[in-house]
Amino acid sequence: MVEQALIERAGRFHGHICPFLVLGLRASEIAMEKLGLGKVGEAETVGEEVLAIVECNNCFADGVQVATGCTLGNNCLIYLDVGKNALTLVRRSDWKGVRVYVDAEKISEKYFQKDASELFDKVVVRREGAPEDAEKLRKLWTEIGYVMGNISEEELKIEEVKVGEIERAPIFESIRCEKCGELTMKTRIRHVDGKPFCLSCLGECNAVVGRGIVPRFKIPLTRR
Ligand SMILES: [Zn+2]
Ligand SMILES: [Zn+2]
Repeated sequence: MVEQALIERAGRFHGHICPFLVLGLRASEIAMEKLGLGKVGEAETVGEEVLAIVECNNCFADGVQVATGCTLGNNCLIYLDVGKNALTLVRRSDWKGVRVYVDAEKISEKYFQKDASELFDKVVVRREGAPEDAEKLRKLWTEIGYVMGNISEEELKIEEVKVGEIERAPIFESIRCEKCGELTMKTRIRHVDGKPFCLSCLGECNAVVGRGIVPRFKIPLTRR
């Protein structure tokens, strides 16, 4: 069961406490327990010895990062753009993993009161709520969030999986862009007429935005 202090810490990281944030904590806790792992520390993060594989970029993924210590920045978080609330935790030593999947429909039918779902539709989906609706939703969401910390294993789908080897983050040399003069990872440099340019100067790169990975996303920056 997820401790209150961890829920609070996750809330500070994520900006708010909500059901799927806490489900990310709970799923992580279950996977860590089954693999006999604690939160990753110095040894595991430097060597990327433990990986957390998430399948969506949402509240759930933030819960996973806080609970496991596997983050986007330490390369222990792998993001599969699949669009599911699921976590697979795996260790490199034997590539044995545990996948925990959360069925949002089952959970919401059982735990989300009707007014919470309606309020969510109004405030988040249709973006039509008044400030007091948003406040009411925040309170309800926090309440349900805490309940999610105690959800039983039977209410989640938990499976043992074998994970195919995933490469360690390579370290590449940097090359200076001919146009902006900024150092850029070698693999992100394109040569035009024999000269090196960064993707920013060329105008597009792959990006993770709210809807997932978007290939050839237009660089949204203009210098003032
Ligand atoms: Zn959230
Ligand atoms: Zn450039």
